[in-house]
Amino acid sequence: MSNSHACQILQDLIRCPSVTPQEGGALSYLQNLLESAGFSVERPVFEDADTPDVENLFASIGSGAPHFVFAGHTDVVPPGDEQAWSHGPFAGDIEDGMMYGRGTVDMKGGIACFAAAALTFLQDTPQFTGTISFLITGDEEGPAINGTVKLLHWCKERGIAFDHCIVGEPTNPNALGDAIKIGRRGSLSGVLTVNGVQGHVAYPHLSDNPIRGITGMLEALMVPALDAGNERFQPTNLEWTSVDVGNATTNITPASASARFNVRFNDQWTPASLEAELRQRLDQAVNANKYRPGDKAAISYDLEIKRDASESFLTHSETLISALSNSIAQITGRTPELSTGGGTSDARFIKNYCPVVEFGLVGKTMHQVDEQVSVADLDQLAKIYHAFLRKYFS
Ligand SMILES: [Zn+2]
Repeated sequence: MSNSHACQILQDLIRCPSVTPQEGGALSYLQNLLESAGFSVERPVFEDADTPDVENLFASIGSGAPHFVFAGHTDVVPPGDEQAWSHGPFAGDIEDGMMYGRGTVDMKGGIACFAAAALTFLQDTPQFTGTISFLITGDEEGPAINGTVKLLHWCKERGIAFDHCIVGEPTNPNALGDAIKIGRRGSLSGVLTVNGVQGHVAYPHLSDNPIRGITGMLEALMVPALDAGNERFQPTNLEWTSVDVGNATTNITPASASARFNVRFNDQWTPASLEAELRQRLDQAVNANKYRPGDKAAISYDLEIKRDASESFLTHSETLISALSNSIAQITGRTPELSTGGGTSDARFIKNYCPVVEFGLVGKTMHQVDEQVSVADLDQLAKIYHAFLRKYFS
């Protein structure tokens, strides 16, 4: 396999300015590349109220089982201040063994490597038994409504079923081969609002200061810890992202106080059981009523849980995990950690269809100015995916 192949594909992809929801030429480029290798390619466009229409790509070669699918996204986050970049964010410049550009690691680099690996595999093993597909969305960094969820449904409607999937998101903290993601924590966001009565700061008995109430409620959701974690997952963690009263004066107490939070939770919780726990803790804090000494009024609060909560999941497929781990060890000499840390990805949707793991490049510079990838890593990752395909289809 030529080093230049994954590197060249990535450079071509970086030059397609595909900031969500723009296709930017990236999917057309992949379509040409894959069609000339014999894949059949479709480009479904999905639409929904209040979101932009998004182009997606489904490519497939071979027939029958096993059906392996690589998944990824060609859309990228905006470059931010282009003047701050040392190389143009859509130029694909290479300097000192690093390629610069928006999407080099998240995640056009992963796509370039699995495309290069599949094309090499088809040259080595044209008579392989089974199917290789690509599930590529243009809506991962955006609302994620007209992307993978609908593309998976579109496949299902056409009778297409997958046996295993690798998502090429950047999973390695420092070096290629550090970690495979075999699951994800769930995510739940909410807003706590404590209602009070605005008043003069010198006459607190005439008002009801919600800040007194909210301090104890913030504490109640953090202590004691929600759990201690387990063998596969970190402890569940609640982070407050903002605490607001919007009060610019010094002689008025506010009418309400609100606080926003996100919980990343492990497999000991569902969104429903977690919400129940949070509500119970808040009710206990209210009943204790220790935040308003001498005050008879109970704290009045609202807890709004956002509807986009996602469940945690863990992939158990030995076929997938061992073939990938062994390929990583073979090419890099490293034994990857089987991780469930970090944020969410489209794997949370794919897991409803087939066992899925994530493995890609080193994530250090994703979403940053001067996002960059080592050209040597591109070569190694393409070799890992290629070794994987050989093991998987042997
Ligand atoms: Zn990504």
